[in-house]
Amino acid sequence: MDDAYTPTLEDFAFTDSEMEVITAALETEKPWDWKAGDERDETVKIIKKKIETFHLGRHKDQCCYCRRHLGGAGYFMIDREHVLPKSVGAFRLLSFEIWNLGVSCKRCNMQYKKERIDFVIDQADEGARKSSHNYRLIHPNFDNYEKHFDHYMLQKNGVTLQKFTRLEGSAKAEYTYDFFNLRGLEVGSFDEAQGVAQQHQGLGKGALEARSLAEDFGQ
Ligand SMILES: [Zn+2]
Repeated sequence: MDDAYTPTLEDFAFTDSEMEVITAALETEKPWDWKAGDERDETVKIIKKKIETFHLGRHKDQCCYCRRHLGGAGYFMIDREHVLPKSVGAFRLLSFEIWNLGVSCKRCNMQYKKERIDFVIDQADEGARKSSHNYRLIHPNFDNYEKHFDHYMLQKNGVTLQKFTRLEGSAKAEYTYDFFNLRGLEVGSFDEAQGVAQQHQGLGKGALEARSLAEDFGQ
């Protein structure tokens, strides 16, 4: 399997003692939230941290859906994201499958993705779960984000520019853009910055800075 990210999925492995705990957790109703109530609780924490560190590494400390920078963001901003939701019966046993996990920001996970599964084309086909083709959105592990979007993000003092350019012919880019309302994250868009600059004489410092930044981006 081609993997667009490093470390690759194949580089990841649980230790024997971690697998023991995972096996016990999977026998419960909510494996991901399972608390062993003994010293194995520490192993559960280590497992979750290990998953988070691994996926942050693959996505260069960014949300796998909106590219928000999560480096050092901590518990209140970062979600270990289950692509096929762990709360949906058929997917419960995938709670610790590294290919079904990613790291996202709270906004993408809690506000938009939630427990939706309509982005899965064939929900019953178990054999298709590890295939990019079975997902309408950009999968954090089976799709290369940069083949679907050019993401621009620039901050300078009080000015922010952010844009998601959907690459031509990418249905996944269109779908992901709508699914996560990425339009709502585009601020001081390059076109707008220039438009404002052209409409008004005597621009504020912020608008001038935005225009200058946009020019730096060749927009
Ligand atoms: Zn996000």
